[in-house]
Amino acid sequence: MDGGSIASAESTLSCARCGKPAHLHCPKCVELRLPRESAVFCSQDCFKASWSSHKTVHLKSKLSRLTASTPDEQISAALNEGWLYCLKKGQARTSKLPHFYWTGPLRQYPISSRRIVPANIDKPDWTIDGIPKIELNSDLQNVVEIKTLEQIERMRETCRIAREVLDAAARAIQPGVTTDEIDEVVHEATIAAGAYPSPLNYKFFPKSCCTSVNEVICHGIPDARRLEDGDIVNIDVTVYYKGVHGDLNETYFVGNVDEASKQLIQCTYECLEKAISIVKPGVRFREVGEVINRHATMSGFSVVKSYCGHGIGELFHCAPNIPHYARNKAVGVMKAGQTFTIEPMISAGVWRDRLWPDGWTVVTEDGKRSAQFEHTLLVTETGVEVLTARLPSSPNVFSWLKP
Ligand SMILES: [Zn+2]
Ligand SMILES: [Zn+2]
Repeated sequence: MDGGSIASAESTLSCARCGKPAHLHCPKCVELRLPRESAVFCSQDCFKASWSSHKTVHLKSKLSRLTASTPDEQISAALNEGWLYCLKKGQARTSKLPHFYWTGPLRQYPISSRRIVPANIDKPDWTIDGIPKIELNSDLQNVVEIKTLEQIERMRETCRIAREVLDAAARAIQPGVTTDEIDEVVHEATIAAGAYPSPLNYKFFPKSCCTSVNEVICHGIPDARRLEDGDIVNIDVTVYYKGVHGDLNETYFVGNVDEASKQLIQCTYECLEKAISIVKPGVRFREVGEVINRHATMSGFSVVKSYCGHGIGELFHCAPNIPHYARNKAVGVMKAGQTFTIEPMISAGVWRDRLWPDGWTVVTEDGKRSAQFEHTLLVTETGVEVLTARLPSSPNVFSWLKP
């Protein structure tokens, strides 16, 4: 075999997944100059299968560089990561536009200063330093937790608060309102319920919810831009209460929206409904993507691949990882007592995404619109309970739902 001496020199390393002799290094680990033995794989298959848990290694190393180094080094590391605006509390967004190939008409606007959470509210571990330390080090990144009845009861309470907060935000939507004002509604409603807005300072995210307008797929940062008649806007809310998180989102119309956008939003809503309808013990996680892909492509739309549903509970994001696209490699089957989100992002044009220089905002590569809906779900003995389900009081904004 070619390069025999190199291969045998490395054959003492074993695959991080299966333990067989291994010689493939994760390219990202190499780029980050992580120790060669920290992650080596025997095959592309083992590398791919390990990806969702392995990638936390990259994040941990980036975050530890940010915290361990001097302030100057921190800023240069942050610049590389596109996090400067976070460290400067949004100030980077007040200056002139960075050089970037903007994929659509939307541009970034200034971000307001960080909102305060009262001292008496119970907070997750990233509140102060931006790093979800427990989450990054938890075994629950690899094992899907079966919740106890007591945990499930807390999840119900928290998810109901999240729903009420999202509903309050939805009522605030109208042309002329800024997404920062929507963030204020989310923040105030969350702390009024005695909860913490989970996105706030999570991996340095600067605001209390995500607002994703038009071609923004997800993780849009609430800013000073005013919503315009004809826009679509997704609001993604997560709250932390009694030690657990509840996560949901919906995409709304701003004023009068064109027919194509209405169809996109309705189709995305249906994709989530159809995915939820198959959830019960014994169903493979990879089936979720098949159902969503079938419905989206039938309507001429595409499914975003880079962002997935996730386990949730005492951790904001944990196993399982649930892709929304077809022929995905998600492992495992659903079991009663698991809680996770399904949150399909459906795009009018291509499925490919790009990241803005702010390090958060994910947009479609072709600048066409994208919609999303999300629920937090509990697998029950017989099927599924939608923990973030709409309430009789939820604003009646979707024409396809009977009042
Ligand atoms: Zn969410
Ligand atoms: Zn989520």
